[in-house]
Amino acid sequence: MTHTLVYPIATSHNAAGHLEIDGCDVVELVSQLGTPLVMYHEGSIRDQCRRYMQAFSEHTDDFEIIYASKAFSSVAVNELVLEEGLSVDVSSGGEYHIAKAAGFPAKRIFFHGNNKTPDELRYALTGGVGFVVVDSFQELDLLEELVAVRGEQQRILLRITPGIEAHTHSYIQTGQVDSKFGFGLGDGVAVEAIRRALAMRHLMLVGLHAHIGSQIFQLEAFRRAIEILVRLIGEANARFDFNCRYLNIGGGLGIRYVDEDMPSSIGEYAAVKVEGVRNEMSALHLPMPRVLIEPGRSIVGKAGVTAYTVGTIKEIPGVRTYMSVDGGMSDNIRPMLYDAQYQGMLANKADQPADTTVTVVGKHCESTDVLIKDARIAKPEPGDVFVMPATGAYCYAMASNYNGSPRPAVVLINGGRARVIIERESYGDLVAKHRSMRD
Ligand SMILES: *Cc1c(COP(=O)(O)O)cnc(C)c1O
Repeated sequence: MTHTLVYPIATSHNAAGHLEIDGCDVVELVSQLGTPLVMYHEGSIRDQCRRYMQAFSEHTDDFEIIYASKAFSSVAVNELVLEEGLSVDVSSGGEYHIAKAAGFPAKRIFFHGNNKTPDELRYALTGGVGFVVVDSFQELDLLEELVAVRGEQQRILLRITPGIEAHTHSYIQTGQVDSKFGFGLGDGVAVEAIRRALAMRHLMLVGLHAHIGSQIFQLEAFRRAIEILVRLIGEANARFDFNCRYLNIGGGLGIRYVDEDMPSSIGEYAAVKVEGVRNEMSALHLPMPRVLIEPGRSIVGKAGVTAYTVGTIKEIPGVRTYMSVDGGMSDNIRPMLYDAQYQGMLANKADQPADTTVTVVGKHCESTDVLIKDARIAKPEPGDVFVMPATGAYCYAMASNYNGSPRPAVVLINGGRARVIIERESYGDLVAKHRSMRD
């Protein structure tokens, strides 16, 4: 058995020695749909949603699990998480549009972002967006003006930057003092933001929000963020009678990309978050707010597997062997962006020992287009199907057309069936929005 815990639940291999995801033979699927192919396992997504719902319900009746849709913003996956009872957060007008297309009631959409444009805000307000998470003084004034014009009231949260450093890659930290996001605690900025928000006639400040980073393994960082947030709530309560009804403590739970990764469980995460809020709030004799969390990566990350076709194999004796695949940084930029680690295997040789070391590279014109350094796989040959697990979050979401690469097809696998949820782009799509000088 060469596949391991980094693959979706219900992964196995069949008598032909092919990798199977929930009854779908990956090699057959690829022969029908081509590569690169992004495969999501529906059961794994639903399972994560249910784990979150279950774990939080063990600690409180008043909570909301919000899917951070930027991890993979697609109509079908939004439909799925809606069915599982989650709300959704969006970080742009485009993600808002996709969530609406999936049928999300606007009231259950949270709108984030450090630079929402007036057009994006107007679009969301017109649709009746549930909550705007306000990121700056400038946005506070802009939003008040836009809502006033409509003669409405809008519920908002304020994004607070608690000034703590999570143990994660510095590019995916967002909660430290030097951040483009949110209101910092230094110089009384956050307190002043609460004061001003409460004074706005058309904005209803119902709570606070903080998201300290992503791919976090050590829950201690969340505990400290909650401590800091609740201290702020206490101060604003004492000074302005601020009543925090919603406390959104972000997403950030890490997932396993390689076997050695040891992320915390959803159960442990729920306990730290809910009990942390309860302890801190009750120490100040403040009522328990609704606890909101926004997982993205941990909902879809492990459900996704990308399949490629092996092409050129270049052996440099005594140095290394490069194995090229027909995708790379255009469908997964995380190794280059964050030094992200992955492992993989040959789906058509799932029963063979992983006894060969190769460096898996993409087909793009950049030396940094390396997907995995020193991967251990079965002996590769051109035409083999190479799969990389744990590509469900921030991969297709960040895909590009670099080198004129049509973006891959995406399928959703369930019980032996694979349904295309995003079609593969064609060469025609690549030029569809281009206008010739001859026109
Ligand atoms: C990205 C993001 C999330 C989701 O983070 P994950 O690490 O994918 O769980 C949640 N909230 C906000 C504001 C974000 O920007």
